Amino acid sequence: MNTDAGHHVVVLGGSMAGLLAARVLADAYERVTLIDRDQLFEDSDHRRGVPQGRHLHALLARGRQVLDDLFPGLTGDLAIAGVPSGDLLDNVRWFVSGHRISQIDIGQSMLFPSRPLLESHVRARLRKLPGVTVVDGTTVTGLTSSDGGSRITGVRIRTGPDTESVIEADLTVDATGRRSRTPAWLDALGYLKPVTEEIRVDVGYASRSYRLPPGTLGTDKLILQNWTPARPYGAGLAEQEGGRHILTLAGLLGNHPPSDPAGFSAYAAQLEYPDIHQAIQQGEPLDDPVAFRYPANVRHHYDRLSRFPNGLLVIGDAICSFNPFYGQGMTVAALQAQALREVLSTGTLHWRPFFRQVARAVDVPWSIAAGGDLAFPGVVGRRTAKIRLFNAYLPRLHAAAVHDPTLSAAFTRVTGLLEPPESLLRPDRILRVLRRRPRIGGE
Ligand SMILES: Cc1cc2nc3c(=O)[nH]c(=O)nc-3n(C[C@H](O)[C@H](O)[C@H](O)COP(=O)(O)OP(=O)(O)OC[C@H]3O[C@@H](n4cnc5c(N)ncnc54)[C@H](O)[C@@H]3O)c2cc1C
Repeated sequence: MNTDAGHHVVVLGGSMAGLLAARVLADAYERVTLIDRDQLFEDSDHRRGVPQGRHLHALLARGRQVLDDLFPGLTGDLAIAGVPSGDLLDNVRWFVSGHRISQIDIGQSMLFPSRPLLESHVRARLRKLPGVTVVDGTTVTGLTSSDGGSRITGVRIRTGPDTESVIEADLTVDATGRRSRTPAWLDALGYLKPVTEEIRVDVGYASRSYRLPPGTLGTDKLILQNWTPARPYGAGLAEQEGGRHILTLAGLLGNHPPSDPAGFSAYAAQLEYPDIHQAIQQGEPLDDPVAFRYPANVRHHYDRLSRFPNGLLVIGDAICSFNPFYGQGMTVAALQAQALREVLSTGTLHWRPFFRQVARAVDVPWSIAAGGDLAFPGVVGRRTAKIRLFNAYLPRLHAAAVHDPTLSAAFTRVTGLLEPPESLLRPDRILRVLRRRPRIGGE
């Protein structure tokens, strides 16, 4: 597929991956039509198609950089809209492997918008671009094709109970999330489905918003308690716009937080460190807890297919969806949009280089999420030597990072997707870890 061969692209799904893909495609195509089955209003309300929006959504440092690159000034706009920001480490109180790692300013600002507010700002920016049309309240029901299925020519849509029609396009981009129907559509057209990796984690989330007295968290904007194999439950309490805080409780391998108010508080009380529970006890709840279930990390290897129709691409969670506790999904959607831009810049947009480029963007975050989950004996999957090495090394690094800000900074830069995990194995960092052996009983 050559970009010169067409003028119109249709993007399926108007969440983060679809919005960012549409932004990049608007530079290369005359018309971009973004379709979503939800009504997409100007404001920042929760919506059905993005139920995860009711839970804590951290935008990693790398994601913020790419978003600002795609929409210059976006984070400035969010700050004007009252979104709290802080340093990725200095303003984050982080308990990991049972240790509170040291905090210093690493010069990487992090934003704490609610998910609906972030999405509404990105959507508003996209709508202003020439040639972009947002079609909401419209469900995509299938693909249309020609040449015996070797070229996708657009999509079938449903706008009402009995109203079906077709939108023709030179390029169709599926950004409909982890329930994407592309594997089934490929099968119906006579193609092989992509090989799929799945790592089951059986994660449960429950979230609730609070009004906390000013200064409850000191200068911290986020308190994060990671789960450990010994205690498979964690939590994040973050400041958001509108002077509220959101608390997300999360448990792995069936250790799900309850969504009734009393059970929710009791779950917070059993966290290893009391900081979060003490903070919410001083606050006023603003709503009832809501729950979410996340069964498995899933990665579809479109990059390994040898046959695929022209005129079709897949992006975002539809390619790879991560255990949400690592906070990577939106950042990876941004990295995939960047990969799309790189392939477009060659002048020829073909599915094979696109999926290969996307696979490169996904490799590191997948290794962090899937590798981290495999530290839990109850999670089934192949534990390569590299995964075992990291899962043995990281708790020691965290213990050393209690008093060594160089190590907490290095770790934070990896989880913010600013540096690769291998950077933690630099000789000077290994030496720092070895010099500070963990003491028995914590710290
Ligand atoms: C509980 C939870 C917490 C998370 N926390 C974080 C976090 O802290 N940080 C982070 O970066 N990421 C987080 N994520 C991941 C993040 O939400 C996603 O990675 C991100 O939204 C990108 O997904 P997407 O756009 O590919 O798909 P989705 O967000 O799933 O959106 C799919 C879109 O497609 C539309 N759609 C679906 N089917 C159709 C159809 N047939 N016709 C028309 N429209 C359709 C839907 O309405 C929706 O708008 C979290 C995820 C979960 C589940």
